[in-house]
Parts: sequence; structure tokens; C-alpha cells
Amino acid sequence: MTADLPAALGGTPAFPEGLPLTVVRAPDRDGLLRRLGTVLDSGQLTNGPTVAELEESAAKLLEVDHVVAVSNCTAGLMLVLQAAGVGAGRPVVMPGFTFSATAHAAHWAGGVPLFAEALEENITLDPEDAAARLAAAGSPAALMATHVYGTPCRVERLQEVADAAGVPLVYDAAHGLGSRRAGTPVGNFGLAEVFSMSPTKVAVAGEGGLVATRDGALAATLRCARDYGNPGDYDTLFPGLNARMSELHAAVALSWLAGLEERVAHRGALAGEFSSTVAGLPGLRIAVPDEGDISTFKDLTLILDPDRFGLTALELSRALKAEGVDTRRYFHPPVHRQRAYAHLGQAEALPRTDRLADSVLTVPLWTQMDAATVRRTADAVVRIHGRAEQLRSHGV
Ligand SMILES: *Cc1c(COP(=O)(O)O)cnc(C)c1O
Repeated sequence: MTADLPAALGGTPAFPEGLPLTVVRAPDRDGLLRRLGTVLDSGQLTNGPTVAELEESAAKLLEVDHVVAVSNCTAGLMLVLQAAGVGAGRPVVMPGFTFSATAHAAHWAGGVPLFAEALEENITLDPEDAAARLAAAGSPAALMATHVYGTPCRVERLQEVADAAGVPLVYDAAHGLGSRRAGTPVGNFGLAEVFSMSPTKVAVAGEGGLVATRDGALAATLRCARDYGNPGDYDTLFPGLNARMSELHAAVALSWLAGLEERVAHRGALAGEFSSTVAGLPGLRIAVPDEGDISTFKDLTLILDPDRFGLTALELSRALKAEGVDTRRYFHPPVHRQRAYAHLGQAEALPRTDRLADSVLTVPLWTQMDAATVRRTADAVVRIHGRAEQLRSHGV
């Protein structure tokens, strides 16, 4: 009788063949190859009609006035922050619980990250803590927030906080392509929202990013900024970047945009399946959006209370590894603890974020996954929890 034994204690692994964290598969391979053929045959590999078509399709999907395609999300954030006047060493308030690129973009734009706490409920930026840090900062340049895992931020309150401090609000929407806040697509909030289309994200260009904004002047500046700051006559207006998206990447991106809403809905259903299988386990919850919101579930992330669950996130990750299940700790270490920002002296500044970052474990989820696979993963977690004490004494 080893059926109820975790693999780490000698049971049969749930996935002897292994279960990767994510699988990247083009939704319409034949259509994509045709599109790539058209681009190649045109001989125009950059500054062409495919990027324009992508921008138009994305603007329609996101119900926003302007979309500017860029080479990646990090570059898009840098250019938005530059356009918003970040620079000269001024503080940019942002979450510690985010991917490093949020902070790097502020740094490259000339700002200095000033990290703020995450909300206990959904690990997005805590608006009240952000307000306090904005007020304490000398002359803040901007507020940034991240739709973590695709969970929409509390955008209404964040906008009030940014307005009260007199700073622009810029969203790292890398995970949020297809998310909605109370029915409104992510892409419509703040000064601008920047999406990523790198391969681990929900919609893929290979490498790529999209800036969405309702501000026409900003969109025009970004079109110039992504092309070295060149307005068209090579008499550059300011030091821009080469942050153009190529026609080939735009062709890939277009094939992933089609049917995005259905795929996001499927991911939500898979997350729900996992949730209901582990429901009732003490000390385990899932990062979910506020009532009425839609998340892309870019990541399906468990949040553990180790005292009640019986294992830490790290211990659970090891027990799942024995089952063949690949996991990641998104985001651990949080950015304010990373070596790149040690010189800022903010490593001890976010105790709640530290605790949350110690508690998270991201489990496999991808768009073509089926419900049975999700259930099998969740069942493994249930089995592991049932033997938590034994696993601990075996030093998992
Ligand atoms: C992936 C990611 C980025 C960076 O996106 P790129 O397109 O790779 O530059 C930025 N922020 C977050 C939260 C991310 O997950």
C-alpha cells in the first residue's frame, strides 16, 4: 500500500515522466508559419505593417486608445518612466514583491527604487503603505505597481494615492495581458501599462512588449523613443533606445493574441480545479483576484502558512520534486533583498513582504494543460500534507 504515500517517503511519483512548470506551444502553428512566410517574403523585417497590425489588434482587445509595441517589457517600462520625467536620482515607489525588471527599469531611467509592502490578501502593492512611503520620500518621481501573477491591483485606490502625491502611476503589467478589473481590461489604468510577451508569459512574441495608454502624447513620444529618439529625420530629440519590435516577433505575437480571452478563461478554470481539490487543507491558500476581477493566472501560486500546513514552501517544493513536479518560488528573494539593491539599505524594510515571499510556491500551469493533470498535482499536495510530520522527520 504505497498509493497514499508521498514519493519522498517511497510512494509512486505522481509524474514519473516529470511535469514541467510551463509548456510553450503556439496556439495556431500553421497560421503562424503562413504569417512568418509573408513577413519574410516582404523583405521588410522591421518598421513594417505587422507591428502596426499587432498594435491595432491589441488596442481593440484591450479597449484602449493606444498600444505601442516594443522589444520587451523592461525596455517599455524604461521608456515610459523616462517620458514621465523619472530621473536625477529621484525615488520611484514600487513593490518589493515583483520581478527584478520593475526595479531595473526605474534604475535605467535614472530613478532610485523605494520599496513598499505587499497586501496580505493577494500580494499586490499595498496602497496605504505606498502612500506612506511616497509621503516620506523627499521628492518622489513616480509610483509603480505590478499585477502579480495577473491579479489586478487595487487600481482605484492606487490612483488616488498617486494623485495625492502628484506623481504618475505606471503599471508593470507583464503578467496581465487578458486580466480585467471590474470588467475593464488591464491596460486602461494609470499613465501607462506595460505587458510582456516573453515565453513564460500568457501571450508570447518570443521576446516582446506592449505599452498601453490612453495618453496620445505619451504614445507619440514612445514611438519616437523606441527608435533612438528619432522623430523621422535622424535629428534625435532625446537619447532613446532601440526598443523596436521586429516584424517577425509581431507575427508571432499576433498568433498568440487571437483567442486570448478563451485561453485566459481556461487557465482560470484550471486554477479553480486546483483550488477545489486542495480546499480545506489548513494553512494553504491560493493567490486569487478580488471578487469580480479576472486574472490570467500567469502563475498558479500557493501561499503557505507553514505552522498550520506543516511544511514550509521550500519543503513542499522538495516533496513535489520527488513527485516529478517542477515548481518555482515566484518571487523569492523579493527585489529589496536582492544583491543588486543591497546598496539601498532597504533589505530589512518590508517584513510582511519577506514573510509572504518565504511562503509562496508556484506550481505548474499552462494553457493546454487538462483538468486531470491539475487534479493529479493537487492530489499530490494533499498526499504530502497528510504526511507532513513524517516528511519533516525524514528531513525532506
Ligand atoms: C517577465 C517580467 C518582466 C520583464 O519582461 P520582459 O519582456 O522579459 O522584459 C517584467 N516584470 C515582470 C513582473 C515580469 O514577470
